[in-house]
Amino acid sequence: MPPDIHGTDPQKVILSDMTKRVKIILKSGKDQSVHRYHPWIFSGAIKKIVGNPGEGDEVEVFDNKDNSLAVGHYQPGSIAVRIMDFSDRRIDRSFYFDRISAAIEYRKSMGYFDNQDTTLFRLAHAEGDGLPGLIIDNYDGVAVMQIHSAGIYRSREVVAEVLKELMGDYLLAVFDKSESTVPYKAGLKAENSFILGDSDIKVVKEYGYNFKVDWINGQKTGFFIDQRENRKLVESFTSNRDVLNMFGYTGGFSVYAMSNAKTVHTVDISSRAIEMANLNIGINFPEDKRHCAFAADAFEYLDNCENRYDVIILDPPAFAKHNNVLHNALQGYKRLNMKAIQAIKKGGILFTFSCSQVVSKENFRKSVFVAAANTGRKVRVIHQMGQPPDHPVNIYHPESEYLKGLVLYIE
Ligand code: SAH
Repeated sequence: MPPDIHGTDPQKVILSDMTKRVKIILKSGKDQSVHRYHPWIFSGAIKKIVGNPGEGDEVEVFDNKDNSLAVGHYQPGSIAVRIMDFSDRRIDRSFYFDRISAAIEYRKSMGYFDNQDTTLFRLAHAEGDGLPGLIIDNYDGVAVMQIHSAGIYRSREVVAEVLKELMGDYLLAVFDKSESTVPYKAGLKAENSFILGDSDIKVVKEYGYNFKVDWINGQKTGFFIDQRENRKLVESFTSNRDVLNMFGYTGGFSVYAMSNAKTVHTVDISSRAIEMANLNIGINFPEDKRHCAFAADAFEYLDNCENRYDVIILDPPAFAKHNNVLHNALQGYKRLNMKAIQAIKKGGILFTFSCSQVVSKENFRKSVFVAAANTGRKVRVIHQMGQPPDHPVNIYHPESEYLKGLVLYIE
């Protein structure tokens, strides 16, 4: 039985397969990053484009001596080509089948599919799974896709079809949530919608805790799955302590802290986030008076909570989305961490994160170092955190390592 894909047009896929590919010829020496398997071609590396590619078209990349190097999706802008494969293969159904089945096999081998206690995980992590431009999160059988390139967007129905073929009855629905992530200028008129099946908002499990995930209205795909292992680590530090979860969103860190803390406060600037955090606390710890949530600005709140908390978690949104605002972002991390280090009780534990892709581990650490130095308090680094195995880092693409964090002990 063919899967029931809403609006699939097989004709469209076959036609695009037959289209002749535009040739991208690199400047001399600019093929080196391709030989090192870096999956992005910057516009400045291109000597000549033979043809007139549209955004998202499949293109073939050649070196200066006409040797074919790779195939990818074209896009006007700084990253001109996202390389999908270092060969001359077609980016067709069989390509998506190979990549997505490799992503699924890897997660099966890590036990993600048979874990009754954790039913949400990332199924495809863009460059980390050889699928630049494609994120798929799995919420207990509901796959939520976020697509970042026109090339993948055009193949989204094929992606859904392949997911169904590989996952069978386990897969209940595929929701495409790319409205705000596909390049605006490509004029794709993307609308968030189910492309396969449908499903109501679900309660899913993470390490045995329940979370209601709203992939339709929530940020990103509805939940920050990438903090799972760090939330678990937080739990091991919160016993009988007063905890502040700053930038709390759905209350992920707060739920874990509630397992053993004296009190837990969740703060977020968005009142919708506060509602969600209260809801998730209520599902796991009904009527428990140890938790309170406040809608407030992080910087103002931290100015007024000196000596109140033993554990503070700082998980802000990405302060920099582009390199040109990197300096401001680093200043932001410095200011925020300084306030938290100043406010925390003696012997306190600070969990501090950055999820900005353009902020390197070293730069982040430096900002926190400067913040600590400005307060004059004694600070020890006791853990370094990153992203979990369902968010793998492509070793040839260091940019896929976006989440970094430090646990600090503050005297
Ligand atoms: N820690 C969360 C994810 C945080 S996402 C988790 O584990 O799921 C970042 C959150 O920061 C968002 O919910 C956003 O509303 C909030 N936010 C953004 N700017 C803020 C500010 N100035 N003060 C407080 N919260 C802010």
